[in-house]
Amino acid sequence: MRVIIIGSGVAGVSFAEKFRSHSKDDEITLITKENDGYYSRPLLSRGFSKNDIEQSIILKPFDKLRASGINVISGAEITSIDRGDKSVAITGPSQEKSIHYDKLVVATGSSAFIPPPFMPYNALFFCLNSLVDLKALRKFRQGLLNQNRRPEWAIIGGGLIGCEVASDLAVSGDNVTLFHAMDRLMERQLVAEDSALLLEVLKNSGVNVLLNQNVHGFAKQENKVCVKTDMTTEFDALIVSCGFKPRTELAGLAGLEVGRGIKVNQFMQTSDESIYALGDVAELPNGKLYAFILPIRSQAHWLAGFLAGQEQQSWTPPVFTTKAKVHGFEAVHPYNL
Ligand SMILES: Cc1cc2nc3c(=O)[nH]c(=O)nc-3n(C[C@H](O)[C@H](O)[C@H](O)COP(=O)(O)OP(=O)(O)OC[C@H]3O[C@@H](n4cnc5c(N)ncnc54)[C@H](O)[C@@H]3O)c2cc1C
Repeated sequence: MRVIIIGSGVAGVSFAEKFRSHSKDDEITLITKENDGYYSRPLLSRGFSKNDIEQSIILKPFDKLRASGINVISGAEITSIDRGDKSVAITGPSQEKSIHYDKLVVATGSSAFIPPPFMPYNALFFCLNSLVDLKALRKFRQGLLNQNRRPEWAIIGGGLIGCEVASDLAVSGDNVTLFHAMDRLMERQLVAEDSALLLEVLKNSGVNVLLNQNVHGFAKQENKVCVKTDMTTEFDALIVSCGFKPRTELAGLAGLEVGRGIKVNQFMQTSDESIYALGDVAELPNGKLYAFILPIRSQAHWLAGFLAGQEQQSWTPPVFTTKAKVHGFEAVHPYNL
């Protein structure tokens, strides 16, 4: 059997490794846009306070996966899925232009969600969703530090990642202003008491937190960028952090059923019986996306066992909790992210 996996995040890599351990004979090919290896996405939000992050974030170089019998095609993009022919079209370094599959695992993850009013300004802001993004941010920041300037950042969005990034930049010595639309931080996850505690922790680390902010646009002014609310404020750079968007485009174009994510049943199977979806991109029948490391690894290991004939029961989500990685913050009340 030839199994093709699209994506080298925790979903794709965990599945590939587990399936390899179950099955010695099947051909496993993992295709990814990435070039740097399999890395820890959660560590992105500690990307400024850790000097060696560009190396220490790598969990496994692709050559190590290749050595364990997984054919990794890196720096390549799958541009379409032909369900009739059971093949995927590939661009990049591969000699082949299309590759046949018996089973296809779509683990394409998610990109940063950009609110539609911000889209016309996308050249004016950064996001922090991938190692490529982090490298661009670190390079920009280093340029300012080399001129003995203390970087001035605006973070747009006081959800989980916005708070984590604001905290990490502030403890690294930068000036940070956090704009949040709501009247309290991480209002979807935290009770009001913990939001207040988080606000206190961020303020104490030097973050200027602005709540109830209606950010309606950005503008460039010489070497500064401006955030427009009911007033206009200048910064060296902006990071938009307003949530995530599952990468469903390939699946949608191939005619698979798509909602917020790619719709799967309890067996992680899409509306095509040869195609499965895992991770940030998969929407379960209860309408949920399990966009956290622990349940994603569980999905991936479960699917590997299922395709190897070692699992018969459907996947059930594990009990899990995660924590916001804000320096010095511990919520008093338990919460699910
Ligand atoms: C800053 C940040 C902090 C986080 N912190 C935490 C945390 O503390 N705890 C936690 O549990 N979760 C955290 N998360 C969420 C967690 O990282 C994600 O849920 C998880 O990494 C998603 O894994 P994935 O494999 O589904 O997708 P991804 O990691 O997005 O991987 C998808 C892969 O598919 C590739 N790809 C996409 N399209 C194509 C294509 N057409 N062709 C080839 N390759 C393609 C991409 O390049 C990428 O390699 C955080 C996320 C971010 C961004």
